Amino acid sequence: MRPEITLPLKKQAAEKMKKGFPLIEVSALAKKLPPIEEGSIVHLCDEAGTFIGKGYYGKQNKGIGWMLTNQKADEINHSFFVNRIKTAFEQRKSLFQDPTTTAFRLFNGEGDGMGGLTIDYYNEFYVFTWYSEGIYEFRTDVYKAFQQVQSFKGIYEKKRFASKGEYVEDDDFVMGERGEFPLLVKENDIQFAIYLNDGPMVGVFLDQREVRKRIKDTYAKGKTVLNTFSYTGAFSVAAAIGGATKTTSVDLAKRSLPKTIEQFSVNGIDYEAQDIVVMDVFNYFKYAKKKELSFDLVILDPPSFARSKKHTFSAAKDYTGLLQEAIALTEKNGVIIASTNCSTFNMGKFHKFIKEAFQKEKLNYEILEQYTLPRDFKTTKAFSEGDYLKVVFIKVKG
Ligand code: SAH
Repeated sequence: MRPEITLPLKKQAAEKMKKGFPLIEVSALAKKLPPIEEGSIVHLCDEAGTFIGKGYYGKQNKGIGWMLTNQKADEINHSFFVNRIKTAFEQRKSLFQDPTTTAFRLFNGEGDGMGGLTIDYYNEFYVFTWYSEGIYEFRTDVYKAFQQVQSFKGIYEKKRFASKGEYVEDDDFVMGERGEFPLLVKENDIQFAIYLNDGPMVGVFLDQREVRKRIKDTYAKGKTVLNTFSYTGAFSVAAAIGGATKTTSVDLAKRSLPKTIEQFSVNGIDYEAQDIVVMDVFNYFKYAKKKELSFDLVILDPPSFARSKKHTFSAAKDYTGLLQEAIALTEKNGVIIASTNCSTFNMGKFHKFIKEAFQKEKLNYEILEQYTLPRDFKTTKAFSEGDYLKVVFIKVKG
């Protein structure tokens, strides 16, 4: 039996959680947290003892666990997990049926009713990412439930519950067959080479699927493209397939060079006709200015926070400056795709950064369109922090 414990919540927090806010925060507790084991079942109630919901204790970067249900009769057991997983499969039916796409998110934590766990699909393989020791305590039950719902080639897992949520180094293979890597997956007929057993990141960020499609279908043809913070060059590949005259990918990490070559190559694109630059983006901006380079399409997708030798970049503080640098390199009537996965500010604030940057550069602009998370990255209204992605297409005018 799992330990079970009742946690009364302060009035305001109780109201919020009654409306569906699923994250359990230390500041919500009406009393000091008693000694408690990771993976304990918690019963949440208000100060009068009225039931609010059931969840588990699991210390994460943010919060100390998640509410899993507001139904008193629900037990957190095999059939609970089977139901959650079945529902997730049903809601991704159209993606499973789409022959042009074999990589997407199957299960998105709290959006699918179970905070602390995500499951991604890569061409008959699944990757489970566990975000706390607490949720990992349920691993055996969850895998058993998953096996009951779905057949698969193999399962890998990522443990992201070291002190600050970073990746725990391990053999990530769990069960089934081991994959042969790179595993080739498709996304709207773009191929990606994926590695499921080589660190926390597998080679592509699945949440940008719609943005890559849009670049490929609508924005790339006949354009010169600068892709900054390019990682494995996924946006560059989409642009090249879409008919870009040339792409330039810039990333600081040495591994980005062979990884980007590989992504071009698996799509039959001659990587030698593209530029792949291993460099600090901020140095590249200086270099490009000196050489008077300019681009029709500039993509900005920085991490929320990054420290390089000379620069510390924080999206919440420095995005306006980053946009100014990009504006300077963008052709008139060109387009900037500004993206951020930073959850500490919302779309409204992001628009303010954009406005500020153009004001400072004394140029006009037009917002063409914008994206948040795609439907497979299911979110819940009550937890808007979960909808972290913000992507804005901006036309640079005179
Ligand atoms: N746009 C990518 C994902 C970006 S991940 C995609 O769609 O796949 C963030 C990347 O930024 C990492 O690859 C990291 O190496 C890179 N990075 C962080 N700081 C940087 C800097 N100052 N200059 C260049 N690249 C940087």
